[in-house]
Amino acid sequence: MSTQIPEVVAVDTITEWTDEFDVVVAGFGIAGGCAAVEAAAAGARVLLLERAAVAGGTTALAGGHFYLGGGTAVQQATGHADSAEEMYKYLTAVARDPEPEKIRAYCDGSVEHFDWLEALGFEFERSYYPEKAVIQPGTQGLMYTGNEKVWPFREQAEPAPRGHKVPVPGDTQGAALVIELLVKRAAALGVEVRYETGATNLIVDADGAVVGVRWKESGKTGAVRANSVVLAAGGFVMNAEMVAEHVPWLAEKPFVLGTTYDNGLGIRLGLSAGGVTRNMDQAFVTAPVYPPSKLLTGIIVNQAGERFVAEDSYHARTSAFVLEQPGAAAYLIVDSEHMEQPMFPLAPLIDGWETVEEMEAALGIPSGALRSTLDRYNEHAARGEDPDFHKGAEFVQPQDSGPWGAFDLTLGKALYAGFTLGGLHTSAHGEVLRDNGSPITGLYAVGANGGTLAQDGKGYASGTQLGSGSFFGRRAGRHAVSRSS
Ligand SMILES: Cc1cc2nc3c(=O)[nH]c(=O)nc-3n(C[C@H](O)[C@H](O)[C@H](O)COP(=O)(O)OP(=O)(O)OC[C@H]3O[C@@H](n4cnc5c(N)ncnc54)[C@H](O)[C@@H]3O)c2cc1C
Repeated sequence: MSTQIPEVVAVDTITEWTDEFDVVVAGFGIAGGCAAVEAAAAGARVLLLERAAVAGGTTALAGGHFYLGGGTAVQQATGHADSAEEMYKYLTAVARDPEPEKIRAYCDGSVEHFDWLEALGFEFERSYYPEKAVIQPGTQGLMYTGNEKVWPFREQAEPAPRGHKVPVPGDTQGAALVIELLVKRAAALGVEVRYETGATNLIVDADGAVVGVRWKESGKTGAVRANSVVLAAGGFVMNAEMVAEHVPWLAEKPFVLGTTYDNGLGIRLGLSAGGVTRNMDQAFVTAPVYPPSKLLTGIIVNQAGERFVAEDSYHARTSAFVLEQPGAAAYLIVDSEHMEQPMFPLAPLIDGWETVEEMEAALGIPSGALRSTLDRYNEHAARGEDPDFHKGAEFVQPQDSGPWGAFDLTLGKALYAGFTLGGLHTSAHGEVLRDNGSPITGLYAVGANGGTLAQDGKGYASGTQLGSGSFFGRRAGRHAVSRSS
């Protein structure tokens, strides 16, 4: 593993090409699969190089949330009004550094993309899961998977549920179904897929345009000429050196989620041709304390006994705020009326105490600080109000019935898991951009290699990676073909 940028190969040094294609895609996860299929459907000759023995990558691990809206068939069937405009407002409001052109394209194209996904050969169930949860427990097609109902976002855009889940029960591997269907579609469209074959270097002409790719398969190597190369080789969470360089806190304690080839090579290939990166310091990291959502009636405090986040936030938003607290330490305090066992016991229950003073002392919170925070919260909650963090009304309930319990959200105590979000800077068509914003001719990056909408931990909503990875994968595939013809 390394942070090394592969060398680019000058086209005039290539003495023999193994093949020639219109479009070469590196990586058969959701983004690469969608790019290849869309390019082939537009008439291109497409080669898909996949370093592993099977398609799927990290996508095959994913639960299967696609963040889609603007009036999809599931939203309509379950009575949830939505529009591209409200979706645009939400995604803009929640992002740290929004990219308006991409968000606009994504929201305007979301219903068509939903239909396209279903046309691969599955149907999102026309049903809605109303609870606040990490993922639907069954095959329900729709639920809230972001901060749409959380203040201040609920005032900035009309809330609507947009977390569409593929009809596979359970919290992992649902998206493998979509990969299976993409493999079939790619075969039907004549995409040539070479497994156990990795892209190793980009081939460039004298103007810096990408005109091919070098590959490696067991002991063999070769060079393919292509009008366009699409990098879709996944994130970098499994590359310890890249993580240490860009997201050192992710290397400290969280458990990292991904597959072997999430080694950032795709991103480094993009850099080798003159591309630049964005949001490399950002990660999705989480240790959800819900379900049950009843626990969110409690308060989350830091070591000073102060609240710092609306407790009903999407779990990764809460986690991102926890990690910013001194010592990355925080506790969820719940009284006996609202205490329940979390479904995923990731944040350990420290203990229960008869008095707030005993709890304060046990948690090492300055004397009186937790008492005062709890008193203020309870006083307002008794009137159904939360003037400090504007928690949603259903979660505003006094925590005044001792004994009290505390769950430990502190990094190193709670089991955090995560993956990286940064990647190559791309245009709304997936073209890899240079520092000055100009596109590198013939080079695209999609999915975790660059260009998804999910680019910061606080703004993440479940489904934005698969949703925008597939959406911008398709756009890159189409653009690559239009450029070639
Ligand atoms: C447990 C888990 C659950 C998740 N759940 C969701 C969810 O429900 N919704 C959501 O939106 N996101 C979810 N995510 C995130 C999401 O799965 C990923 O961000 C997304 O799948 C990345 O897709 P991709 O196509 O960019 O990369 P991948 O799916 O990782 O595909 C990249 C492919 O490239 C191949 N490759 C690597 N290097 C090379 C090379 N040099 N040459 C050729 N091929 C190469 C790899 O082998 C791999 O097959 C989840 C992640 C995890 C870990």
